[in-house]
Amino acid sequence: MLTEKEALERVLAAIQLGPAVELALLPALGRYVASDLLATVPIPGFDNSMMDGYALHAADSSSDSPLQVTGEQPAGVDRQLHCQLGTALRIFTGAPMPSGADAVIMQEDVQRDGQSIRCREPVVVGENIRRLGADLCRGQIMLRRGDVITPGRIGLIASQGSVTIPVHATPRVAVLSTGDELIPVGREDIQLGQIFNSNGPMLQGLITQLGILQSQALHCNDDLLATASMLRELIQTQDIILLSGGVSVGDHDQIKPALLQLGITPDLWRVKVKPGKPFLFAQTTRATDGRPVYIFGLPGNPVSSFVTFQLFVRPALLRWMGAVDVAAPQMSVRVAADFTNTGDRPHYLRGCVQEGVFRMQGMQQSHALFALSQANALLRLAEGQTIRAGDWATVLTL
Ligand code: AMP
Ligand code: MG
Repeated sequence: MLTEKEALERVLAAIQLGPAVELALLPALGRYVASDLLATVPIPGFDNSMMDGYALHAADSSSDSPLQVTGEQPAGVDRQLHCQLGTALRIFTGAPMPSGADAVIMQEDVQRDGQSIRCREPVVVGENIRRLGADLCRGQIMLRRGDVITPGRIGLIASQGSVTIPVHATPRVAVLSTGDELIPVGREDIQLGQIFNSNGPMLQGLITQLGILQSQALHCNDDLLATASMLRELIQTQDIILLSGGVSVGDHDQIKPALLQLGITPDLWRVKVKPGKPFLFAQTTRATDGRPVYIFGLPGNPVSSFVTFQLFVRPALLRWMGAVDVAAPQMSVRVAADFTNTGDRPHYLRGCVQEGVFRMQGMQQSHALFALSQANALLRLAEGQTIRAGDWATVLTL
């Protein structure tokens, strides 16, 4: 059986990045930059005043004699004024620096008397001036391939005057829930023995959280022919297919037989992890356009589905979308109680981090969806590992 690390490496090695697209600024939020971007407009774009005040020669600010105010330089227009020694120019925040002046004194630090000012505090050369290119130079790399587009970065691109950003596309993803016992939410005629399909919406939620706003949800019974035929159709239209359930070795588990019927041999099946051992990954090539299609088989138990999504599917989706950093977000915490993993696989415990302390949350069995729904972190305990109350640990945050 593969370790989680080996399994993730195999999955990531298989993933080809999705195509690059040019998107308007807002739709690009949360996407990943497709190529290094160089600044064409420096920040600041010109030397300008940091304050409302007076542009002057710094040397004049320590003299006792008044300085004649010879003009006014507002923001938004360059009046091409020149500041002579022994004079000052009224200036406002963001206004271009007049030639000659080498500092700005805040209006609070002068005493104005008609058309002249007296400085109460001396200023030094460069004070209160925002210099051309001090934050970002023309030609400097401002975003690297794989960087995520945040609101701050949308602002940065806008500062360049650009209306679009080159980012990677999002994949077309379908979730196919398998199981004879499943009925769709909304049905009122649920019978004993049946359950509502909760993995479908949960997995779609996890996909949506990554910025993939549209995904398909389908269901199929534990029937070899039906499973194979649905898979065949999905391969024609999807980039990534998430299968839930039917991936173990029970008589009704049809995922592996269905894949084999389509001539697809899984790249990996079964991982040394708890929950989530039956996890499966396969890939194929779509005949019509030669694009790869990736297939993830997630165990039906909701917690196993959730955990294997976090460990293997999330990084793969992020990589497809062009992210360079696909590692799960982590934080250091102290644990509230002793935990021992007596099993023979690494165990991901579900829990809650509050004020830096991790507490186990509810039942830890793989069907315990309520306990999962209350958790905000996963604590990994290696096989045989004991952790003591008060110890530091690193958890994956959800
Ligand atoms: P399986 O992996 O198909 O053996 O299913 C393992 C367990 O997960 C069984 O108790 C199933 O009823 C349950 N299960 C399977 N699929 C789903 C689903 N879509 N939503 C909720 N529970 C499921
Ligand atoms: Mg099943």
